[in-house]
Amino acid sequence: MKPNTKFILWILGAFLFAFIAGRFVTPGPVPAPKPVHAPGRAAAVYVQPIKPSQTSEKDISNIPTISAAPAITSGSPSGAAFVQAPVNRGQQTPTTSDLTISELYQLIESNPKSIANVSFINSENIVRVERVNQLPSLVKVSDVGGKQALLAKLDKSKISFQTVEPKVDPIAKLISENFGTILVLLVIVGFLIYSSRRAAKQMGSITGMGKSRSKDVEKLKDSIAKVTFKDVAGCEEAVKELRRVVKGLVGANVYKEFGAELPKGILLIGPPGTGKTLLAKAVAHETGGSFEVTSGSAFVEMLVGVGASRVRDLFESARKKVAESKKPHIIFIDEIDAVGGKRGGGTGSGSNSEREQTLNQILVEMDGVIGNQGIIIIAATNRVDMLDDALLRPGRFDCHVSVDLPDRAGREAIFAIHIGERLIASDVTLAGLAHRTYGYSGAEIKGVCNRAFILAAERYAGRREALVQSGMSAEQVAAELVKETTMVDFDEGVDFVRYGNPDVAKQGRMKIIDKKNTAYHEAGHADTAVISPDADPVVKITIMRRSKALGYVQTMPDTDRVSITRQQALSRIVMAMAGRAAQEVFLNTVDAGASNDFQQAADMAKRMVTAWGMSRLGPISVGERGEGPFGGGGGHAGFGQDLGNEIDREIRYITSTCYKAAKKIVEANRERIEALVAILMHKETVLADEWQALLKAYPSKIKWEDLTLPEAEFTEEGGK
Ligand code: ADP
Repeated sequence: MKPNTKFILWILGAFLFAFIAGRFVTPGPVPAPKPVHAPGRAAAVYVQPIKPSQTSEKDISNIPTISAAPAITSGSPSGAAFVQAPVNRGQQTPTTSDLTISELYQLIESNPKSIANVSFINSENIVRVERVNQLPSLVKVSDVGGKQALLAKLDKSKISFQTVEPKVDPIAKLISENFGTILVLLVIVGFLIYSSRRAAKQMGSITGMGKSRSKDVEKLKDSIAKVTFKDVAGCEEAVKELRRVVKGLVGANVYKEFGAELPKGILLIGPPGTGKTLLAKAVAHETGGSFEVTSGSAFVEMLVGVGASRVRDLFESARKKVAESKKPHIIFIDEIDAVGGKRGGGTGSGSNSEREQTLNQILVEMDGVIGNQGIIIIAATNRVDMLDDALLRPGRFDCHVSVDLPDRAGREAIFAIHIGERLIASDVTLAGLAHRTYGYSGAEIKGVCNRAFILAAERYAGRREALVQSGMSAEQVAAELVKETTMVDFDEGVDFVRYGNPDVAKQGRMKIIDKKNTAYHEAGHADTAVISPDADPVVKITIMRRSKALGYVQTMPDTDRVSITRQQALSRIVMAMAGRAAQEVFLNTVDAGASNDFQQAADMAKRMVTAWGMSRLGPISVGERGEGPFGGGGGHAGFGQDLGNEIDREIRYITSTCYKAAKKIVEANRERIEALVAILMHKETVLADEWQALLKAYPSKIKWEDLTLPEAEFTEEGGK
């Protein structure tokens, strides 16, 4: 059945239901008394005879309605029917003879026979009096009591009377009589409108599936309005490359003169938060063009063809935009690896072929962007090795720009950008901040600053409040307080970004034994961190609980590291293993708290074996086992089962040997660890200076050379 026919049947059904429901909801017709036929009158009407003796005030106002008819008959009080003069019920015919209620009373007493009929108009205090050979009169009765008194008099004088309905507006009557039906109908019609709108919406979302999900260009205008290359720091190479693109897009194009083609697609490669989106926005702003941001995952649907259609839509609207505005249009595709992974492998499932179709469409569209059309596609990924080769070919994403974690100078510059014009305390230096944030991305540095400003603002507000309460004027308070952010604020920001919020309440409720457990665990990490000659110095040891950790040992290199030696890798694994080793040696406890350490150790060992050639397996580099083109199983493993087993064995060998080494270190340095645990139990945190003093007071009783560490085949060639 067609949806339209179904819909019409639905409506008809609903109306039928409404009608039937209405019949039940509406009060049924009043049981009619027997009709009394008036001779000579064609119409029969129903009259409710009323007996004064039974009539109460309520009864009178509740006299049943008489259906409309040109004439009526009435019952006498005794119930006998007799013919009445025609009364146009509901019509208050104008009268020529006025009659007051007292005149009517007199008439009833003096000459009852002159009164042919009296009609009480229901729910109104008016009676209609018909006299023999006279025009009818309308008489006002004071109230319901007046009506009753009149009724009694008429009854006594045996004058016939009846009730009639006042004139009713036929529409109002219809509504009042069918109120229930109308109500049910309205509800049903409302429901139908609501469901048809919902259906239309759903249809719309189905038909709109193929529409690009990129963020609205207009809405992004504000976000790019202020972004320039000056707002990005720590990635000079990327800025240089993108400035080149901007130059080629606007103004005199020297590249054209030389017949040089600018890249259509630029691939920004780097971890999250390093400023890739920011760079793309800066390009859009500097070219005066528009900016559209989407993500690889926004193209991926289970339905085959939807992603491809979204890609078409994205490029179509970009072309329109450029044609209309005559300005460049920047499309930024974040996480392109979600859709641009290697093709050809995988299970051939719906989602894989959908991805392949989508990727093909991206390639087709990129090929279609001929010459300098003003469309620049900037994509971001952290897994360039995962991308399909076709995507990286000349004419597509052939311009690769690394946007790595910022180095020390970069971090200083990023801090400078995010601190801006704000006041900072004299103990804060950009160099100091950069030193505390090795390995932090631009976005994390922004987070550090923001946290520090929040803390500074709260401290300022607290002190201002206290000063105002002490009686200082607003001017005095302003002169007394400085709106500055201190190094303590930034320090807290650094920890907040990595380890989360301090959980002071939970910390207070922690049992001593649990605190002790954490203290030995962290002391183990700290103690082993300083054994390796070129290990990074420890800057903080704490058992203060935060949302992401029970405690931690923070190390920071004096100078940024650009690579990692085998010894450094091993020392990191030893350090990671030392938390559990210390718990075992000092408390004879094994708990779940070391799982994250083991993960880190295993990751490092894996990289040593499979990527860095730092194991007994020699200088090999193999991909992820079982990794398909889109991260699924069944792809190119790059190695067979035998090598896989050897890799697993080697990883276990490295981690277990390092664990034994860690145990040896903490056993040798018992005194130092006990001293550190005592301080941690007392004040929870030990900073670099105090730690240095401890190291002097308790020199290590074991050296790196004394340890039995994992062997490597090629130590002669310089693995260490
Ligand atoms: P990505 O796209 O690489 O994940 P974003 O560009 O979204 O990172 O970075 C988020 C925010 O972090 C930016 O808006 C900016 O405020 C800050 N940020 C990141 N990298 C930098 C940088 N290199 N210089 C200045 N600020 C940065």
